Amino acid sequence: MSDAKNIGVAQWVFDHAQTAGMGTDNLPGADALFLPLVAPRGALGVLAVRPDRPREMLVPDQIHLLETFANLMANAIERAVLAEEGQQAQVMIESERMRNALLSAVSHDLRTPLAAIAGAVSSLFEGKVDFDPKTRKQLIQSIYDEVMWMDRLVNNLLYMTRLESGAIQLRKEPLPLEEVVGAALVRLEKKLSDRPVTTQVPTDAPLVPMDGVLIEEVLINLLENATKYTPPGSPVELSAEFDKEQVTISVSDRGPGIPPGEEQRIFDKFYRTGPKRTRGVGLGLAICRGVVEVHGGRIWVENRPDGGAIFRFTLPAGSEPPRVEPENAEDQAGRR
Ligand code: ADP
Repeated sequence: MSDAKNIGVAQWVFDHAQTAGMGTDNLPGADALFLPLVAPRGALGVLAVRPDRPREMLVPDQIHLLETFANLMANAIERAVLAEEGQQAQVMIESERMRNALLSAVSHDLRTPLAAIAGAVSSLFEGKVDFDPKTRKQLIQSIYDEVMWMDRLVNNLLYMTRLESGAIQLRKEPLPLEEVVGAALVRLEKKLSDRPVTTQVPTDAPLVPMDGVLIEEVLINLLENATKYTPPGSPVELSAEFDKEQVTISVSDRGPGIPPGEEQRIFDKFYRTGPKRTRGVGLGLAICRGVVEVHGGRIWVENRPDGGAIFRFTLPAGSEPPRVEPENAEDQAGRR
């Protein structure tokens, strides 16, 4: 029998959901036995069986067994298809949620500072009121703060998009951790100015392979949170412990800690918890997790028994390269 004819038989089996072909009364001239794969939602395909010894194989009992087998197969295939469809639906819901969160982040969180900037600028500009120098300075300070906040938000959104699309190319090189920590502390100097800050980072530790710019970003996000979510003036500690395999960096504070059960979720995109007076869009920790994971590390949070949170992350250790100044230190600075 030609292939075209066999396909014709298979099509008939599919359309009629009935067994046909060799060994049956329907189209017995076919080269094989064709069994429909029928699941509760309908026919999924056809199973063709071409036995070496048709006479022995194609007796009613065997055909019945094959039909049972085909049914089981069809059910299993349908379950797999349903699971995949369910997953796709879940992905759709998730991306819809993301789109809404992103939209609200961009619209609400950018509009608020923009309105504040516009208000302050127009007060200064219109000159209707003769502000005393102190009030003038306050207005200018508020413009500066709002601009910095917007800059950070836009940066975070860009980082997240680039991380997710895989567009971030790691520029890993062995770096002295204390320098990256130092750079992050300098950038947050103003926010940390009313805080007792303790750092315990060994200066004679091995160099750690990392993308300095990205790890600095992680430290800034963690340190910034340690100032945002804790009472003014409370201490912030930063420490690093080295062992053979990795370095563990910890940022600790004396704030309220993380509500039990939320320890994982706070690392999700756009997830926020706690009192909503603090500004933010819930991207900082998601970026930290993304960056740490592309480095092959892990990030998590622990609540301190005597109050406060400790955010810890690990970075895999290098193979003990000699400590020399990185040649492209300038290049690193140039990427800031
Ligand atoms: P954002 O600061 O924009 O809300 P993050 O991703 O940085 O976004 O943080 C997510 C949530 O985790 C915050 O809304 C906050 O409730 C909680 N959080 C982060 N850091 C701390 C901290 N040091 N202490 C208490 N809660 C924190």
